[in-house]
This record gives sequence, C-alpha cells and structure tokens, in this order.
Amino acid sequence: MFAPGVVQDLRTLAALTSTPDGAQRLAWGPVWREARRWFAERARELGVEGRTDAAGNTCYTLPGSTTETVIIGGHLDSVPNGGWLDGTLGVMAGLGALRMFKDRPRPVGITVVDWADEEGARFGRSLLGSSAASGSLNVEDVRGLVDKQGTSLPDALRDNGVDLDRMLEAHDELKKLRVRGYLELHIEQGPVLESMNKSTGVVLGTFGVERHMLRFTGQAAHSGSTPIPMRRDAFIAAAETALACREIAIRHSTPSAGVVCTVGVVRVEPGIVTAVPGVCETSLDQRALDPDVLARMLADARAASEAAARANDVTVEWRTIWRIEPRPFDSRLLALCEEAVREVTGDAPRLPSGPLHDAAEMVPHMPVVMMFAYSARGLSHCKEEDTPEPHLLKTIDAFLRLVEKVVELR
Ligand SMILES: [Zn+2]
Repeated sequence: MFAPGVVQDLRTLAALTSTPDGAQRLAWGPVWREARRWFAERARELGVEGRTDAAGNTCYTLPGSTTETVIIGGHLDSVPNGGWLDGTLGVMAGLGALRMFKDRPRPVGITVVDWADEEGARFGRSLLGSSAASGSLNVEDVRGLVDKQGTSLPDALRDNGVDLDRMLEAHDELKKLRVRGYLELHIEQGPVLESMNKSTGVVLGTFGVERHMLRFTGQAAHSGSTPIPMRRDAFIAAAETALACREIAIRHSTPSAGVVCTVGVVRVEPGIVTAVPGVCETSLDQRALDPDVLARMLADARAASEAAARANDVTVEWRTIWRIEPRPFDSRLLALCEEAVREVTGDAPRLPSGPLHDAAEMVPHMPVVMMFAYSARGLSHCKEEDTPEPHLLKTIDAFLRLVEKVVELR
C-alpha cells in the first residue's frame, strides 16, 4: 500500500500556516480558520462536504452502503510555535483514507473529524470540542475563561459561529451515529519509540491522572540561630516526599506498563536565603494506565507525605486539582492495530499514552484505538517536532491498513 499524498498535504499545510518559529494554528483564530478552509477545499476535491457541529467540530463523511461509519479523528489546531504533525497527522491520514476509499465499495462510511480546540492553548481548556461531543464538558466550568488579550471564551466562540450554551448539542449528534470504531493517528510526543528505533506503536489507552497540591506547614525561623534538629522545615518534608514519590513510581513500573509522577511546582515561604522555610507547597501529578496501580500510587504517596511530615515536625494537607480515570482502548481494535503495524514494520510495540487525546473522550461511547508515530528526540509542541520521513511513510501505511481492516471487518 502507499500513503496517497498524505506527507505532501502535511507539508503544504505547514508551509501555509507556519512562521519560522513553527505552526501558528491557534484555535478560534484566523490562521486556524485558514487551515480549516484549506482542508475543506481538499475534501471538496474528493466530493466530500464538511459539516460543522454545534461545538465547532467539522466532520467529512464518505457514506457507505450501510449507516454504520468508521471515524478517523485529529485536530488542525496547534499550540503557538507548534509542530507540523501534532493533530494534523490524524486529520491528513483521514484525508488519505477518503482518497483511498473514494472509488471503492464501502460496507461502512468513513468520517474524518477535525476536532475544535484540542490543545486548549489559548483558554487553558484542552479537548474542548471533543468533550462537548462526548457530553463530558461542563459549560459552567469554561464560561469565565479569558485569553491573554482579555477576550472571553464565549466571545471567541461566537466569532466562529459557536454558541457556548448550545455546544452540548454536539453530543446529541454524536449519539445518533452508529460507529464501528474510532481511529486516531498521532505523533508520540515522547522518546519511547525512538529509543526502540521503531516507526510505529500501538497505543493501549490514555493514562489516568491524579493531580494534587500538597501544603507542608512548619515554622519559619532564622537560618543562623536555629540548630538543624530543632527546625520545623517545610521544604525538607516536601523534598523527602518528592523523592519518595519518585521511588513509588519506579516501584510500580513494569517493562510493559510504565507509570510516571512529577513534582512540577515548588513554592517556599518566606522565600529568603536566611530563613528556614515555614511553608512549602508542591504539586504532584501521578499517571498510570491501570486504575488499581494509580490508586495504590496515590495511597503510597499520601503515606510518604505523612511520614515525611512527622519526621520533620510539620503538617501536610492535600488538595485535589484534577483527576481523570484511565481510558483503556478496545481489545478488538487493539488486535487489528497490532496486525496492521506488524505487517508494515515487522513488530508492534505497545505503549500507553501519557498525554490525553480526543480519542480518550470517545472511549465511553464507542470502540477506540490509537496509533503513534516515531517522535524525533521526543520533542513536540515546538518547531523541532518531527517524524523522519521513512518512519512517517511506514506509519501512514500501517494506519491506512488499519482503516481498511476496520472498514472490511465482518
Ligand atoms: Zn495533538
């Protein structure tokens, strides 16, 4: 099989919507709209008209001989100074599938979805369009969001013909579809496939996330006059906890099911060089694919924080910021995905997805699977993002084979 024009399309769109600093397709802005117009034109050349739902997601459907359809998802929006493949690879592979099936008998339809505002780069809410379509969006949670220029989300949506109060109607439309499978091809955005020198990976599901703030409270004191054994140093308790959480993640990782944890924020009070920290606040972000493992990691982290607090004569309080359960993909589609990847690359490495994707929003509603492409140096959300062409061509080939397998499934 060949990858009909997909790489060329990707390069053309990148040239049209990038500056020397990278892709500039920020959701709800002029460059993004230009990208969408360009894409609509490519679909029109194949005789496929787009339809935009109440949340701003655009669907391009090649009908089949039954009402059932296969969905191929992606997103044309990017972060500012983004890469050329994040999101676009999925949409453009979908266009390749439309091209491939245009003149072939189709037992089911093929629908390419360009999700609106996957990145959340402007208003801070990721997966906006797909969460509306899946019905998980809470409109009140996003009504007050404002971008750096002071534009409110409802106003930005209105400029694009989307009414925030009607966005969830997209869910009614989704429920009407008879979906055989949802397929998404995405760049890995991490270094795992590269480290194995593999072009393509089968994605097992998206990680569940437990995200909390920990506040350690001790007593600020003079750094010269307070002997170490008499201190109540909140930072030391936080630091011991961070190291313990790292050990917990290492302990819960297996070669086939890695987990991660990150302390990304550390704030110390009073924050002067001559004072023992009286307060230290840290973030903790833990991720795993297995819900039981994630629950154990969280319980272990709590116990570790309490032990560190006791040892340093401070207190610790936990506050939940955000959590989402793991979203494992469909076992039947995983098997087909593995088959397709193996046919092209001779091997089918399986890996979880650390980042969330639109695919995760679809998991409660239909069978879902994702495929990852090799990500050079693991870099993404920057202009250096790349999949070297030999890896890219193999991955697109494998993905189109997957589409074919799902379309022809009996
Ligand atoms: Zn993406």
